[in-house]
Amino acid sequence: MAETARVKFYNLSLEERARWLAEQRGLAADEIAALTGESGLTPEQADHMIENVIGLHALPLGIAQNFVVNGREVLVPMAIEEPSVVAGASFMARLARAGGGFFAHTTPPEMIGQMQIIQLENPAEARLKILERQADLLLEAGKIDAVLARLGGGPRGIEVRLIEQSAIGPFLVLHLIYDVRDAMGANAINTAMERLSPLVEEITGGKVHLRILSNLADRRLARARCTIPFSELAFNDFSADAVRDGIIAAWAFAASDPYRAATHNKGIMNGVDAVVIATGNDWRAVEAGAHAYAARGGKYISLSTWSKGADGGLVGTLEMPMAVGTVGGATRVHPTAKAALKLMGVQSASQLAEIIVSVGLAQNLAALRALATEGIQRGHMGLHARQVAIAAGAQGEMVNRLADQLVAERNVRIDRAEEILHEWSN
Ligand code: NAD
Repeated sequence: MAETARVKFYNLSLEERARWLAEQRGLAADEIAALTGESGLTPEQADHMIENVIGLHALPLGIAQNFVVNGREVLVPMAIEEPSVVAGASFMARLARAGGGFFAHTTPPEMIGQMQIIQLENPAEARLKILERQADLLLEAGKIDAVLARLGGGPRGIEVRLIEQSAIGPFLVLHLIYDVRDAMGANAINTAMERLSPLVEEITGGKVHLRILSNLADRRLARARCTIPFSELAFNDFSADAVRDGIIAAWAFAASDPYRAATHNKGIMNGVDAVVIATGNDWRAVEAGAHAYAARGGKYISLSTWSKGADGGLVGTLEMPMAVGTVGGATRVHPTAKAALKLMGVQSASQLAEIIVSVGLAQNLAALRALATEGIQRGHMGLHARQVAIAAGAQGEMVNRLADQLVAERNVRIDRAEEILHEWSN
């Protein structure tokens, strides 16, 4: 467990990092090349993925360190353009590992397919007719995907709601609960919904309108918790009590105010999305699920909680929908995504979800700890300054020199960066 923690990964060169990763996880040369950007997705492969392809769009890929999830050491690939995120996750994972790391689990990988049934003579009666025929519908749905059936997945249940709506009158919404195993499940669900609709029309006498997955995957939840021991909380001039109570007070703000909760949850998604993207998963789906879940009580609130632990330390929890797969979509098509999954050593979608939700919790802590103490900009500024320096036109060694100058002046702005570059060139 201590092995990966000992290396100061950030001090290594790009080549040394690649070599270290290969040694640590036994990755083959082509897998390392897919992670470093030497190879990876080709325009020809991309041309088969979406329409009108002209090329590729790259993002930085970093490896978050120090993560221990359910007792297992994990190197976490994160694809993200924003500075501080990878460093923040790694640092918080280090604090959490002193408390045993992250403890995470998932509910079964059950997704929801929706079917809208309109033009019903008697919607209340039609609802009961569907429920009476639940067994037939499940049997029919079970025939659709032989692979899922063989793997122990498939339909689990039917729910029907009557919705009163003034624009078009009452209609029914049928939910098919469907276990998609290691897939994200959108295609599997959408296929099932389309195949079930003739039978539903026959049962109800109505017309099936929309048939589509719901991204509010509230039956497929990932949960993580961690404890930061009291001894790990103090830093600089901030006492452990001040850090802990400051974080709890910051969380209380997000737990009660949607304006703050949106930013609080965005911080969580900084970590979540970076891993979702690195593994070729659909981050729009995960985003949609997260925010809809955050508003499930009728008010948009924090997805996480922070409170005082038994030993005076800090306890964090995060619960959110996590519709990610290790098969399907781009996960097995994109060479970097495949190598990213191999790097983490995940065997199932639920194991991947456990890592992602842990990274989300770590990221949340990184933001709250900074906000509740020295402010977000201090840690952020050095990295932000480098981006500003590059944007202003600095190259090579000049990037760090200019960034240092901007930070020293406490004026990290592109106009000032350009001005300094101009002064230096004269
Ligand atoms: P998919 O259809 O490519 O793969 C899933 C299939 O793989 C299963 O149906 C099964 O037959 C097979 N399979 C093999 N091994 C499996 C295993 N161990 N576990 C489960 N299935 C296994 O992919 P998908 O996950 O159904 O769909 C994901 C894609 O759908 C994503 O690319 C997403 O962007 C896209 N999509 C999303 C939405 C949405 O979010 N609203 C809508 C439409 C499409």
